[in-house]
Amino acid sequence: MTSTQTTERTLVLIKPDGVQRSLVGEVLRRIEAKGYRIVALEMRSADAELLGEHYAEHRGRPHFEPLVEFMGSGPLVAAVVEGVRVIEGFRSLAGTTEPTTAAPGTIRGDLARAWETQVIQNLVHGSDSPESAAREIGLWFPAL
Ligand code: GDP
Ligand code: MG
Repeated sequence: MTSTQTTERTLVLIKPDGVQRSLVGEVLRRIEAKGYRIVALEMRSADAELLGEHYAEHRGRPHFEPLVEFMGSGPLVAAVVEGVRVIEGFRSLAGTTEPTTAAPGTIRGDLARAWETQVIQNLVHGSDSPESAAREIGLWFPAL
């Protein structure tokens, strides 16, 4: 087996817009349909401290405050998802950050409506690297 077949874990968030729009099942269905395994799953409200840590690399950017506010505006679903190359694979399922240009067939391309809001409301988060995944899983699921 080559290193490209490594089983990984990634941190997925279904953001408050996804929960509010009743898209939890649809997002989880797409994850499972792809063959990934949900190894932890929790609906919760996140406080500004956790969200600030989660989005630490965005601190100082104009969208940081509205992003933290939006992410804390209602319950979200946090999940740890496992599978071969799932970090890249879930980002591919999610589509690019901006829903307008996210490809049809992706979660954001098919389902997100982000226009005319202060922050891009694009339904989901997925870790962007093995280092981010380890850091984010540690933040959201310290017991894992
Ligand atoms: P992601 O990894 O595709 O989620 O994108 P990033 O890590 O770059 O950004 C994190 C989140 O911040 C995005 O999913 C958006 O919700 C939001 N965001 C990122 N860039 C911008 C921006 O330029 N303007 C606004 N309003 N929101 C942004
Ligand atoms: Mg990101």
